[in-house]
Amino acid sequence: MRDESQPALTVAQTNGAHPAADALGRALPDNLAVKCPNCRELLLGKDLAKNNKVCPKCGHHFRLSAPERIELLLDPDSFNEFASDLRSTDPLSFVARSGAYADKLVSEREKTGLEDAVVVGVGTIEGLPLALAVMDFRFIGGSMGSVVGEKLTRAIERATEERIPMVIVSASGGARQQEGTLSLMQMAKTSAALARLADAGVLYVSVLTDPTTAGISASFAFLGDVILAEPGALIGFAGPRVIEQMMHQRLPKDVNTAEFVLKHGMIDGITHRRELRAALARLLRLHSGSGAQVGA
Ligand SMILES: [Zn+2]
Repeated sequence: MRDESQPALTVAQTNGAHPAADALGRALPDNLAVKCPNCRELLLGKDLAKNNKVCPKCGHHFRLSAPERIELLLDPDSFNEFASDLRSTDPLSFVARSGAYADKLVSEREKTGLEDAVVVGVGTIEGLPLALAVMDFRFIGGSMGSVVGEKLTRAIERATEERIPMVIVSASGGARQQEGTLSLMQMAKTSAALARLADAGVLYVSVLTDPTTAGISASFAFLGDVILAEPGALIGFAGPRVIEQMMHQRLPKDVNTAEFVLKHGMIDGITHRRELRAALARLLRLHSGSGAQVGA
């Protein structure tokens, strides 16, 4: 029986991040309306989902979960996940003012249905094989601890061994504070694995989505042979306030956006979400050699 006290249309409190899920990551009903954080338009959850979670009015790209991103990019049923059983052991027995890290891991797993903040595997795009790693911002801000670093490294090593392109889709606030120095070491570990991939002559495409900051931007995210970003994504190392305090000067309003870093030569292109799969397919095809046969 329908609860008459509930309105037929509800506006989600999502902070604009995950319009098809509430703060606990649960799926929301189709009649739920979401306010676009950019243009303030009220959008129906189902219409937004149909549009790959891009606002039809202003083009604002809402964040995607890792499963949604994999579905968007890969050929149907082509994804074979691996290293999915890795779990953080909370090596520092870290307790913050807000609670124990061990408890946080349990609640994040329940909330997202993921074991940690990255999903890795192999699959195909338009029939072309690749290794794919996708970060999920819902899981402790997509932060990189030992498990995220290990899973990324295993994916890169798999790409190196099988000589298939590596694609990493970033969505992360940086290193995981709860794992201290062990978390920072993942920057070196993933970068070293990528150096071996480069030595083997295998393509690495880095896709930056909202947000890609701090230790992620200072390691694997900016090491791509080709670096693409989604429109409007927050990208940078430190936030504008920290930079202003250090440099003692005002920064442009659009600093730390995909558009700003493109203008300053730090990335190769901005790709709308609806074109991302096709753009990746073009790069994979060129790398496979089949794209170079024109006129040969
Ligand atoms: Zn909008």
